[in-house]
Amino acid sequence: MPIETLDVLVIGAGISGLSAAWHLQTLCPDRRFAVLEARDTLGGTWSLFRYPGFRSDSDMHTLGFHFQPWRGRESIVRGAQTLSYLRETARAHGLERHIRYGIRVLSANWQSQAARWEVQAVRRTPQGAEETVTLHCRFLFACGGYYRYDQGYQPAFEGMARFQGTHVHAQQWPEGLTVRGKRVVVIGSGATAATLVPALAAEGAQVVLLQRTPSYYLVRPAVDSLALLLRAVLPERWAYALTRAKNVVLGSLLFRLSRQRPQRVRQFLLKQVAKALPAGQALSPHFTPPYGPWQQRLCLVPDGDFFKALADGRAEVVTDHVAQFTEQGLRLASGRELQADIIVSATGLQLQLLGGASLSLDGVPLETGRLVAYKGVMYAGVPNLAATFGYLAASWTLKADLTSQYVCRVLNHLRDTGTHVATPGGPPADMPLAPFADFTSGYLQRALHELPRQGSRGPWTLCDHYADDRRRLLVEPVDDGVLAFSAGPIEAAKPVPFTRAA
Ligand SMILES: Cc1cc2nc3c(=O)[nH]c(=O)nc-3n(C[C@H](O)[C@H](O)[C@H](O)COP(=O)(O)OP(=O)(O)OC[C@H]3O[C@@H](n4cnc5c(N)ncnc54)[C@H](O)[C@@H]3O)c2cc1C
Repeated sequence: MPIETLDVLVIGAGISGLSAAWHLQTLCPDRRFAVLEARDTLGGTWSLFRYPGFRSDSDMHTLGFHFQPWRGRESIVRGAQTLSYLRETARAHGLERHIRYGIRVLSANWQSQAARWEVQAVRRTPQGAEETVTLHCRFLFACGGYYRYDQGYQPAFEGMARFQGTHVHAQQWPEGLTVRGKRVVVIGSGATAATLVPALAAEGAQVVLLQRTPSYYLVRPAVDSLALLLRAVLPERWAYALTRAKNVVLGSLLFRLSRQRPQRVRQFLLKQVAKALPAGQALSPHFTPPYGPWQQRLCLVPDGDFFKALADGRAEVVTDHVAQFTEQGLRLASGRELQADIIVSATGLQLQLLGGASLSLDGVPLETGRLVAYKGVMYAGVPNLAATFGYLAASWTLKADLTSQYVCRVLNHLRDTGTHVATPGGPPADMPLAPFADFTSGYLQRALHELPRQGSRGPWTLCDHYADDRRRLLVEPVDDGVLAFSAGPIEAAKPVPFTRAA
């Protein structure tokens, strides 16, 4: 059978893939592209998670796309509302016609003589069987998110099998699990735990949040009054753009201040937690993180719901370590026993890059941990490949939109110059390389060796600031002397991935 050749192949139909599809169809109408999605539905993260209370902790004005105004009243919303917004966006802009569901990309090999990627995928047939699919594409755009879907991270606690109650992972929430009247222990800290606790309490459970390390909390109203006011007096698009800009500036200010004046920001964050806590409850030990602000993601608490659950006596925080699971619950390192009917592991994700697809150049496997990022979008020495990886300290979509726009600029530059292959050059040999991120979050630390590294200057740094990134991805010339353009099959040099020993 002849092999289909596309100009661009996008992996994944989550936020990143939808952003890619909109930008490709709008800015590169001359390119044939398709989005391959492993599941039967779009939305990625926002259609996967089902635990009670699942929501974003970003405001919808920045988690939303720049091209599709958020119309909801609240700006911090449940996952179901985010998913509806994504579905509505796909419908409104005709994006679904580009998506091919039920196809999982397994691998991609760059064939330098033909200047194309050969992509191997597996397709689920309506009968439930699997068949192999081969596709060719000129440009590969990986939008497959950053973590494994089949399982979350589950530390191996002693005696887990002994527990007589129900043990679930937040990523695999069973349908129909009733928590009313049950004693529930949530193991973990961070956004998922902070979301689960008030939601389980509201459903009638008696909840204990068992954390090893305290988190920082940011208490904010779920409704952004200024956004509503702007919407009342301005055309919708202006109001949305202004609110988006305001939220970008405020978020970026908090992040920069956290890095420049961590003590000041810590005091500010702890002060508003002290105000939200029930009378008489001290900050220490449960609300005083041992690390600086924004070294891990801040937990947003809309309308203080987490603290209200504590004040109502429906939830409690315990800072301790799991020593072992028992028949009735947990024994902690301090010797304390926690009785539980249900134990929830909110212990995080297992990081995975490029949708789990393995890459090779002319049959030589690429190790992601030895790649060096270029502009946080491409990789030094790897031709015609881009990947979306959102900000750690701001909404994912901000970076997804910039990445998509940049990829379109590269594609249009190739068209305008009659070239076919864009390959970023590597940093000078004496430039020290740094890890992907200086966040201390467990899921990043566990996978740091598999993540591409960054240089110390120029286009090889990974930028975590929207304004700087906007300039380098949308304003600076695409042809910057580092990204090399070549005509393709005839002139294409055999690609040599730029990698350095770990
Ligand atoms: C619990 C939770 C809460 C979050 N809250 C926020 C938040 O408040 N703000 C924020 O900015 N970010 C948040 N995030 C990060 C979130 O993942 C991003 O907001 C965003 O959804 C990522 O979009 P994506 O399209 O890149 O990846 P995903 O949402 O993971 O979508 C990837 C898609 O690609 C598909 N796919 C993967 N591999 C393949 C393959 N090999 N072949 C074919 N298809 C494939 C998947 O099936 C999926 O549909 C949260 C993440 C989690 C887990």
